[in-house]
Amino acid sequence: MLYLLGGKMNYNILTIFPELITTFANTGFIKNAINSQLININTINIRDYSEDVHQRVDDKVYGGGPGMILKYPPIDRAIKDIKKKGYILYLSPQGTVLNQKKLKKLSQYENLTFICGRYEGVDQRVIDTLVDEEISIGDYVISGGEIPCMTIIEGITRLLPGVVDDFESIKQDSFQKGILDHPHYTRPEEANGWKIPDVLSSGNHENIDKWRKKQALGATWIKRRELLKDVKLSIEDDKLLKEYIAEYKKNGN
Ligand code: SAH
Repeated sequence: MLYLLGGKMNYNILTIFPELITTFANTGFIKNAINSQLININTINIRDYSEDVHQRVDDKVYGGGPGMILKYPPIDRAIKDIKKKGYILYLSPQGTVLNQKKLKKLSQYENLTFICGRYEGVDQRVIDTLVDEEISIGDYVISGGEIPCMTIIEGITRLLPGVVDDFESIKQDSFQKGILDHPHYTRPEEANGWKIPDVLSSGNHENIDKWRKKQALGATWIKRRELLKDVKLSIEDDKLLKEYIAEYKKNGN
């Protein structure tokens, strides 16, 4: 069940709004990854597992109080019906907060199942007996698990070999090496009088690499200083960062 060994990544999504997933699955690199058989998205409408003639899947809360809750039986039946369940996630503001390290871990699974909550969430027995892990996309509350689920799927899929054309660019992404990405420029060389840094059009790759490294370290130092506590800088990187800081301060900052 567990690890992806050059096979296809399969995502099962339990939702009461499958139409939210349809556009996602039909757009950009996710669509390409599906067409190239690198991933599979299996969207399951929880309503199809309702025993109610009106296909209801929610009900009032025991003990009283506002809001509705997604019921246990339809979700239980929907999950039992999935052939390759793999690791089962419930999207929840109470879960472990998502980060790049977590995405990398999740990208190792061959099968992942996502339960998207709505209203006040799901019956607690879903979490206690059907779910392997609760995952949050941040300390705030939105109205459904679909967008968090798509966030995770986008994040994992771009890590899979063969999905993004230029796999090298992925390695430079923010957080991949514990620091932020360096700035990027594209044509025109001058826009509204603003020129690109000279080094980038110099053709000197050693200098370009050095500049990028320095800017990446500098951006991390300015925007997310706490991240630098967890990365071990080489002597050269440490020197580049010190240079960056000295120049930054010299420029009156
Ligand atoms: N009453 C719940 C929130 C319900 S919000 C609570 O306070 O814990 C409705 C649904 O949106 C949740 O069931 C969950 O699936 C999803 N959701 C909301 N915020 C989220 C977040 N930060 N991360 C992941 N899922 C979230």
